[in-house]
Amino acid sequence: KMSSFHRDTWVEVNLDNIYENVQAIQKHVTEDVTVIAVVKANAYGHGDAQVANIALEAGATYLAVSFLDEAMSLRMQGIDAPILVLGASRVSDLPLAAKENITLTVFQKDWMEEAINVYSGKEKVKLHLKLDTGMGRIGARTKEEISAILNLIEKATNMELEGLYTHFATADELESDYVELQFEKFAELITFITATYQIPMVHCGNSAATLRFPQRIFNAVRVGIAMYGLTPSPEMVPVLPFPLKEAFSLHTKLVHVKKLSGGESVSYGATYKTEQEEWVGTVPVGYADGWIRKLQGMNVIVDGKLAPIIGRICMDQFMIKLPYQLPIGTKVTLIGTQEDKLISSDDIAAKLETINYEIPCMISYRVPRMFL
Ligand code: PLP
Repeated sequence: KMSSFHRDTWVEVNLDNIYENVQAIQKHVTEDVTVIAVVKANAYGHGDAQVANIALEAGATYLAVSFLDEAMSLRMQGIDAPILVLGASRVSDLPLAAKENITLTVFQKDWMEEAINVYSGKEKVKLHLKLDTGMGRIGARTKEEISAILNLIEKATNMELEGLYTHFATADELESDYVELQFEKFAELITFITATYQIPMVHCGNSAATLRFPQRIFNAVRVGIAMYGLTPSPEMVPVLPFPLKEAFSLHTKLVHVKKLSGGESVSYGATYKTEQEEWVGTVPVGYADGWIRKLQGMNVIVDGKLAPIIGRICMDQFMIKLPYQLPIGTKVTLIGTQEDKLISSDDIAAKLETINYEIPCMISYRVPRMFL
C-alpha cells in the first residue's frame, strides 16, 4: 500500500488505528447513530481517499468535507458514499452536486431562492440546513430565517432536506455553560422545525461533543480529530471515555553527518555556535515541508534518543545535535515513536502554542503519505 516516491522523507498514516478509533466511536454512540467521517483538508493532512475508505470499512456511512472540490476529489478516487459539504457552495455548482450525489449545506434564504431559480435538473439536490446556535460562523439564526428557507425547499420538487445541524464553539472545554446554551437553542429549533417537517438526520456532535455527550448528539455525529487519534483539547485528555490511537507520524533519514570543533556555527545567521566538539546531523526537511522556523529548539528522535534542532530551519533542511556519531541514512523521527521515545502532534502543538489539528494539516504536499 506504499505510494512510490523518490525521497527518504515520509508521513506514515496508520490506517488500523483510524479503523479502531472509528469503531470505538461507533460503539460509544451506539449502532443507531450515523458516523459521518470528517475528511476535509485531505483528511486533516492524512490522505483523503485512504482515510475515507478505512472509515467506511469501520462503520462510518457518510463523509464530510468543507468544499465541493474536496468532495469531487473523493468521487474521482472512486468513493461513492454520500458526502456532505460543510461550507458554503455556489448555486452554479448545484447541477454537479446533484449529479455526484454530494449533499450541500444551506443557511441563507437568498441562496435558496437563487438555487431554485438556477437549478432545474430532475436529479434531487440533497441539503442539510445549518443552524447557528452560537458558533457565529455560518447558519440560520432565527425562526423567521429558518421558516423562509424551509418554505422554499418545500416548494421545490428537485430539492430534498435530508438533515439539520449545528456546530459547537466550546465542546472541548470542560466548563460547560456555553455548550449547554447551544444544546438548548438547538433543541428548541429542532422542535420548532420537526413540528412541521420530518427530517431524517439531525446532528451537532463534533469529536469533543461526541466523546463527552454520547446520549445527546441526536442521530448522527461529525467526527474529525478523534478519528485521527488526537484529543480535541489538552483538558479533555483526563476525561476521554476510551483511549485514542494516534495515526500520523513523520520520518526522514540523515543525509549528512559531521564533527564540528568548538566555536563553529550552524545555519543561516550563524546564530548557533558550538561550545565544544560536537556531532551534527543534517535532516532533509524544512519549512517548505511545513516544519516551520518556530520549531527551532524542538527535539527529534534519532537512534532512540532525543536530539535538538540547532540553528535556523531552512526551506528544505535543518541541523540537529547528535548524541554521538551516527551513520548517514539513520532514521530520524519528527513526529511519532522510536524505542521508548514519543514526540506526538500534541508536543509539536504545545511548542508552537497552537492546537494539534494544525500539525498534520501543516505538513505539506511535498511529503509523501505512506499507508500502513
Ligand atoms: N463539523 C464541522 C462543521 C466542522 O467544521 C468540523 C471541523 O472543524 C467538524 C465537524 C469536526 O470537528 P472535530 O475535528 O473537532 O471532530
